[in-house]
Amino acid sequence: MAHAHSVLDFQSFTHQILSADEIHLIESSVAQFGAPLLMLDCDVVRQQYRALKQALPTVTLHFALKPLPLPAVVRTLLDEGASFDLATTGEVELVAQEGVPAERTIHTHPIKRDSDIRDALAYGCNVFVVDNLNELEKFKPYQHDVELLVRLSFRNSEAFADLSKKFGCSPEQALTLIETAQTWNIRIKGLSFHVGSQTMNPQKYVSAIRTCKAVMDQVVERGLPALSTLDIGGGFPVSYTQQVMPIDQFCVPINEALSELPETVQVLAEPGRFIVAQAVTSVASVMGQAEREGQMWYYLDDGIYGSFSGLMFDDAKYPLVTLNQGGECIPSVLAGPTCDSIDVIAENILLPKLENGDLVIGRMMGAYTSATATDFNFFKRAQTVVLNEFAENSERMTG
Ligand SMILES: *Cc1c(COP(=O)(O)O)cnc(C)c1O
Repeated sequence: MAHAHSVLDFQSFTHQILSADEIHLIESSVAQFGAPLLMLDCDVVRQQYRALKQALPTVTLHFALKPLPLPAVVRTLLDEGASFDLATTGEVELVAQEGVPAERTIHTHPIKRDSDIRDALAYGCNVFVVDNLNELEKFKPYQHDVELLVRLSFRNSEAFADLSKKFGCSPEQALTLIETAQTWNIRIKGLSFHVGSQTMNPQKYVSAIRTCKAVMDQVVERGLPALSTLDIGGGFPVSYTQQVMPIDQFCVPINEALSELPETVQVLAEPGRFIVAQAVTSVASVMGQAEREGQMWYYLDDGIYGSFSGLMFDDAKYPLVTLNQGGECIPSVLAGPTCDSIDVIAENILLPKLENGDLVIGRMMGAYTSATATDFNFFKRAQTVVLNEFAENSERMTG
């Protein structure tokens, strides 16, 4: 578990100047709906999807719902022509409700109950992921209906979340799985991996792609049916308080590695964070304040147990801005509303003197934020305001 919030940090507060339009939008939204709010800008979702599509022109992008499973995000991406990456029956239900054609979905949770498989198949999704024999055996009853990807693991201690610790198998194990599937008459369509979320180094993808290519060559050498698909997972990074490489530059070596694959191999990716992180701005208001040991403590109506849950679960550092920027800056603490002492968003940051009711803005709040929020202490989760879902620039609440 990460404790990014406990690190003394002056960086997370930015003296970014907000435009008059944005201030008006934030203030009028709070006047209408109350605080705390999450403001989802569907234009940013579109822009990020298009940027990744352009950076990976030969890759089919399946948006992973997990970081921000909202209907408006699904609708926006469906309109863009995106495909979707599902992991649970709840996610299957969400895309089904929004009319996503099942052919545009894959189910990538490596460990499933029989009911998870049946629910996805009933919807029409028939691509699944396995990484062990026990899981492969679950598909015996569905051998005529499914196509499977075998997930490989590549450890990555630098990522926010090293997803290869919990899931994935070695190249040798993958080959054994593929051979066994052949004897059980279960079709293996290809390989997949996830190099880890917020991976800053594109070489992680490059070496994973090369290893997958070697496994694909081995499959042919052993006389097994050639694999037709490679799924390069998610993990594409975004800039929080630290700048990351622009996505087109990041993808150059990845495209080079992909060009070494046989032309018959179809490539997929499962981006989550990259598509949605920048699309959400959080708005919290100051509920109360106290001076303690030389610092001003501001108690906000959103915190670690709410939209800032990513400080605990995701290692992210969100750039913070205050709407009121006048006056001298003083060492301050931004705390969440619950009665728990770990519920602190930022310590030792220099903030202008705030009044009760003043607004604090969080940037890059779209991925793994509201998705992992709780209503601990009965503090209600922030509501989401959807912006720019339709061309006419409408504003709407979601539940
Ligand atoms: C979480 C997850 C993703 C999305 O990862 P990001 O790092 O957010 O891009 C994609 N695929 C699988 C299987 C996941 O578990």
